[in-house]
Amino acid sequence: MQSNIVWHDASITKEERRGKNGYHSFVIWLTGLSGSGKSTIANALARKLFDENIQSYVLDGDNIRHGLNKDLSFSEEDRKENIRRIGEVAKLFVDSGQVVLTAFISPYQQDRDLVRALLEEKEFIEVYVKCSLKSCEKRDPKGLYKKARNGEIKQFTGIDAPYEEPKSPEIVVDTENDTVEECVEHIYQYLKENELI
Ligand code: ADP
Repeated sequence: MQSNIVWHDASITKEERRGKNGYHSFVIWLTGLSGSGKSTIANALARKLFDENIQSYVLDGDNIRHGLNKDLSFSEEDRKENIRRIGEVAKLFVDSGQVVLTAFISPYQQDRDLVRALLEEKEFIEVYVKCSLKSCEKRDPKGLYKKARNGEIKQFTGIDAPYEEPKSPEIVVDTENDTVEECVEHIYQYLKENELI
């Protein structure tokens, strides 16, 4: 770390932004297997919030890996760095008063806990997007499971890389048994009940 870098206090605080917006700023961290429904739910929830004049932004796995994190592989070390950088970006969004919806597999509990530790109380809402490997593989929306089974993709979560289920997530949505709308409503109700929106 360079010693001649000094943190510059902002002229507008996070609290002022929240006060003006009329809602809290926080991260909804969706975690789950590939194809479990993270992107689908994040985008459906973003639409619902948008329609209620709540500014949010979806950070999506593929999009981030095309730009900010295009130098990173899927090794354990790089997956960790991937999540760390996303956590820092999410924190900036929260500071700017926005609601952030993230859609990353984020398979390791330790990495998710690291992001939680970057943020304050009520700023990190871990949502386990639950769906069995069997169903995710059957959906295979991007054809990735097929490639992983063929050996075209290595270190694929659920096939030859682990997925650690969240130990105590704030919310669990069951995309195998509930519709997209029901899953979105479940998260939305949590936000209302906790007076975040
Ligand atoms: P991920 O972002 O987790 O990789 P995607 O959202 O890209 O997953 O894909 C999930 C697929 O599962 C989509 O084709 C979606 O239409 C389907 N799906 C079926 N039921 C649900 C549900 N309840 N929630 C989310 N996605 C669902």
